[in-house]
Amino acid sequence: MLYKKMRKAKKLVSNKFTIDWTKPLIIAGPCSFGSYEELLSIAKELKKRNIEFMRAGTFKLRTDPYAFQGLGDKGVEILLRVRKELGLHVVTELTSIEQVKKYGNKIDIIQIGTRNMYNYALLKEAGKTKTPVILKRGFSASYEEWFLAAEYILKEGNPNVILCERGIRNNISNETRNVLDIQAIPYIKHNTNFRVLVDPSHASGNAYMVEPMSKAALVAGCDGLLIETHIHPEKSLSDSKQTIDFKTLDEIIKFRDSIK
Ligand code: PEP
Ligand code: MN
Repeated sequence: MLYKKMRKAKKLVSNKFTIDWTKPLIIAGPCSFGSYEELLSIAKELKKRNIEFMRAGTFKLRTDPYAFQGLGDKGVEILLRVRKELGLHVVTELTSIEQVKKYGNKIDIIQIGTRNMYNYALLKEAGKTKTPVILKRGFSASYEEWFLAAEYILKEGNPNVILCERGIRNNISNETRNVLDIQAIPYIKHNTNFRVLVDPSHASGNAYMVEPMSKAALVAGCDGLLIETHIHPEKSLSDSKQTIDFKTLDEIIKFRDSIK
């Protein structure tokens, strides 16, 4: 297995940027967006905080087929425009082979979502690009299934796979969307050389939980956080309940900067 032989990179160097892993990375931005103006205003807030990576969903895989599905191709156009204007790096989820072919080498980081962790054809296509891939853990995936999904990307020649723990299914209560598997962090750090991010937004489903869960993940040694953030969370077109505002993001950044 290639993942077992992988070395721990101190830096992630893609053809477009370098991630220095000496301090946990923060990737923030909206779940999805509805206009250029909305995304630009969020991007400006990120820039003010020296956050270099913006997440923003364009092709949304929603549980409810009547829910907002993202702006699609128009969304990617807007994303690339905002990137150019503000000089940010952009992360967006791609959900089909066609999208990876079309945008895989244009965006900065490809996100593969939880629903697609088992989509091996999609993983292979992402492996054919030179773009770093954030691979979210499947809803109920074991560690081994997750690592082997990553292996599909590595096997095609793309070594830049970053794992993302985003909460796993729980059937005990529905007060939280999922359960954040904090133990995944030390497990991955101890047993593999993958970098691991934590997404406290999809894990908890509640904005008030995002700050404490981010702090817990940082203390547990994650390599970074992927956080749904909006200037006006209540106006977010998707996942508004779990989206934090910039005041909360500032608290998380402050905490990140306070730990060694
Ligand atoms: C997202 O990041 O907006 C998303 C849909 O995440 P997940 O695939 O983890 O549900
Ligand atoms: Mn979301």
